[in-house]
Amino acid sequence: MTHLNTRCVHVKTPEVPAGRPLTAPLYQTSGFAFTDPAVFADGMANPDGAPVYSRMGNPTVRALEDTVAELEGGQAGFATGSGMGAINSVLLTLLSSGDHVIAQRSLYGGAFASFENLAHRWGIEVSYVSGPAEARQALRPNTKLLYAETISNPMVEVADLPGMFAVGREAGLINVVDNTFATPLLCRPIEQGADVVVHSTTKYLGGHSDVLGGVAVFADADLHRELWPELVEIGASADPFAAWLTLRGVQTLALRMRQHCESAQFIAERLAEHPAVRAVHYPGLPSHPGHELARKLLTGNGGVLTFDLGSRAAGLAFVQAIRLASLGPSLGGVETLALHPASTSHRQLTDEQLRAVGIGEGVIRVSIGIEDPDDIWADLDQALPA
Ligand SMILES: *Cc1c(COP(=O)(O)O)cnc(C)c1O
Repeated sequence: MTHLNTRCVHVKTPEVPAGRPLTAPLYQTSGFAFTDPAVFADGMANPDGAPVYSRMGNPTVRALEDTVAELEGGQAGFATGSGMGAINSVLLTLLSSGDHVIAQRSLYGGAFASFENLAHRWGIEVSYVSGPAEARQALRPNTKLLYAETISNPMVEVADLPGMFAVGREAGLINVVDNTFATPLLCRPIEQGADVVVHSTTKYLGGHSDVLGGVAVFADADLHRELWPELVEIGASADPFAAWLTLRGVQTLALRMRQHCESAQFIAERLAEHPAVRAVHYPGLPSHPGHELARKLLTGNGGVLTFDLGSRAAGLAFVQAIRLASLGPSLGGVETLALHPASTSHRQLTDEQLRAVGIGEGVIRVSIGIEDPDDIWADLDQALPA
């Protein structure tokens, strides 16, 4: 097997009889026409059949699914229109009312909102935990699924995936993890015991802030096959053009991740020395509680860091003073982006919940881009309080 960075470049391409296209062609079609009704019927019933209708299967989308599945070490993928599409498609096809879920306490705001919805509207109980010991204590006879994020949003906590998944495995749960912040280049959670890995490909996999998408990768092709009829009926399937743009992004993922990690380390170290900064959260800093775990679990510390300016006023003044970096949502693109989580990405949390996951009023999240790191620092430095 070639290295992961090589496999990123050599994305999957659909089979054609003669020469192979160098990169995946865009099949911008909602469906396909047949001469043989049996082939048509098989394609509607079988995830490995001929592509029939693009909500159920499309060669460009399939190329993305197969590419990410292979990078993650999984057997099959299902690409969606957004990361939330992937998360909700997985949760809605795996859970039934009356089930219990154990979810990591520190979660992406949208994932947290989905769990709250499942609890209030669909009778699915959710316990929020920090780490394997709490996960074990939370187990109930009706626990079905365990949910974690490799590197959490926004406080960049590193999850003890081996510990969490061992608890899940022993109890017969389905282990699901959001690997958006790490990407398969920094961590391959299936090797740690994950059954399903979800991504917002809007972030690093796409990498250029020009496309929305998500993907769920299944460690076992049988689980994918079992869920597939429902996954395609939910209707969150990826559009071929979005999949095509994402594949183009994946080809440079390894180069971009190397720069994101290197520059984030550089910026984190400078922020840590700045008198106006109360605390810097980045797994690459020895002061980070997940530093040792990150060294074992990750091959790099990612491109996102957060820091605390102590008050909402200082945080909001900072995001208004940045010039090279932009104030805006999302992360994982080539350009540096900053936001104030308490008022935007994590607005779904109450003040008490924000405190519980450590998102202070003065916390700023920065997604470090691939601009020259000296230029990024010059901008952040001029925006910090003197
Ligand atoms: C952005 C994000 C999502 C949601 O993805 P969308 O593509 O915006 O739907 C899920 N998980 C994490 C960790 C994210 O950063």
